Amino acid sequence: MFTLWAALMELKSVGRIIESGLCAYCGACITVCPKEAVTPDADEPLYDSEKCIECKLCTFVCPVMNRGVEEGPVIAYYTGRSLMEDVARVAQDGGVVTTLLIQALREGMIEAAVVCKFSEEPLRPEPMVALTEQDLISSAGSKYVSCPSLSALRQVVDKYESVAVVGVPCQVRAIQFMRKKAPRYARPIKLVIGLFCTESYPYTKFCEMLRDKMSVDPSSVIRSEIKHGKFSVKLRDGGIHGIKIKETKEYARRSCHFCGDFAAESADLSVGSIGSDEGWSTIIVRSQEAKDLLDRAVTSGLLEVRELSEDSKSFILKFISLKKKRLEKELPLT
Ligand SMILES: Cc1cc2nc3c(=O)[nH]c(=O)nc-3n(C[C@H](O)[C@H](O)[C@H](O)COP(=O)(O)OP(=O)(O)OC[C@H]3O[C@@H](n4cnc5c(N)ncnc54)[C@H](O)[C@@H]3O)c2cc1C
Ligand code: SF4
Ligand code: SF4
Ligand code: SF4
Repeated sequence: MFTLWAALMELKSVGRIIESGLCAYCGACITVCPKEAVTPDADEPLYDSEKCIECKLCTFVCPVMNRGVEEGPVIAYYTGRSLMEDVARVAQDGGVVTTLLIQALREGMIEAAVVCKFSEEPLRPEPMVALTEQDLISSAGSKYVSCPSLSALRQVVDKYESVAVVGVPCQVRAIQFMRKKAPRYARPIKLVIGLFCTESYPYTKFCEMLRDKMSVDPSSVIRSEIKHGKFSVKLRDGGIHGIKIKETKEYARRSCHFCGDFAAESADLSVGSIGSDEGWSTIIVRSQEAKDLLDRAVTSGLLEVRELSEDSKSFILKFISLKKKRLEKELPLT
């Protein structure tokens, strides 16, 4: 039976995906390409057909071109927050992601973590291989511009045996495809932390939105937030500007309109803000290793968790289902 995905899989490289503006800029193709025919660029990778040998490896790991993700069974739902002051000060919500990575680093579960930090250019994120607690703290906070974090796996693959990766759901899906089709690059990954996600923005569009829609200079922004149906930014002078999230849609990545995964359903553990109070994060645990790590972070006094209320659980499940339905409506499987 003909499906769009079957048609996509006929493509010989990610060149067409990038050209069509459907790329999610996860960074996976940059890592697996044996000829360096895909390299980082401003808003999506740069594809060089001269270097490409059409081996199709990039197409096998691309989360836009592939569907069919194994969802881990949920072990537990929590709401939690960091008890580390220096994390809580800079974290996006409860600081759960950074605190779990610090716990994993302290106890030797991981040697490094692939995360995303701000570059020198205002609001432009870039991948980072964090090796210390200070590195992790410097990477805390959400960047709503897409960050090709998975391109950093190239740097870690032959250097480390145990690595954690933090990513939005499309990146978590790409890791699952890498495990099957390019296992060399997924081999050191011992922990995958997913972030809830409704959309992200290409850098150029994000700055355009700030300037044209919100009359805000990107270099004056110190914090961005998506909460309660609103996108808002806090400025250096203390000012806060916000617009309704539906007003941001025209600036979002095209790939996000065709994405059905809200909660990074194949991650060991996923974290987001919805369903929790201000300053807390919602946590969905799917692997025993992640549950054990979380328990140890609680025992060592770095993290505080409570069971998530049934109301919050239903709210999140509704969100998950709505995003799946939106995808089926936009792009039915058959
Ligand atoms: C693009 C985007 C959209 C999101 N949309 C929603 C949403 O609609 N609803 C919701 O409930 N939550 C959403 N989140 C998740 C939320 O913003 C927080 O990241 C989450 O609650 C974890 O908070 P924390 O305080 O535990 O994380 P922190 O301790 O602050 O750590 C954040 C971690 O995320 C990593 N990170 C930041 N930005 C990116 C990025 N662009 N790509 C990959 N990794 C990144 C950092 O490196 C860091 O490791 C979104 C996050 C992102 C990045
Ligand atoms: S088809 Fe192979 S050589 Fe060409 S871009 Fe993809 S991974 Fe690189
Ligand atoms: S979505 Fe990821 S793998 Fe696919 S083309 Fe974009 S960067 Fe490459
Ligand atoms: S909405 Fe989907 S495609 Fe867009 S950044 Fe989030 S996970 Fe990736």
